[in-house]
Amino acid sequence: MCIFCKIVKGEIPANKVLEDEEFIAFHDINPIAPVHILIIPKEHVENFQSVSPELMAKMTPFIQKVAAELCLDKTGYRLVTNNGKDGGQEVPHLHFHLLGGAKLKWTHL
Ligand code: C5P
Repeated sequence: MCIFCKIVKGEIPANKVLEDEEFIAFHDINPIAPVHILIIPKEHVENFQSVSPELMAKMTPFIQKVAAELCLDKTGYRLVTNNGKDGGQEVPHLHFHLLGGAKLKWTHL
């Protein structure tokens, strides 16, 4: 079972900020910004490339709600998903990184 499925099942702890029947948002254990939240579906989906439009349609308002609860809707934020090997994906369970709390710099190779 993947590490995020273990978080879904409560087998390993996570510092949750929001949860509903289908999604969880929790603090990244290794933050790269003042606010760094991971947002995952409870259902195991490997990555963005394989997510269904139906699940994404439900995930989008959940992500917007997380951003609003953290007041990032006012200040701005970055939403990132790493997809596959070249994308730098380490955990093979779809997740969006919600980054904020500072004026973020853009990065390149
Ligand atoms: O996009 P990528 O797969 O590289 O990101 C995985 C993220 O999951 C990392 O930022 C890592 O810090 C985070 N993580 C976590 N809690 C865990 C395992 C990984 O927040 N138990």
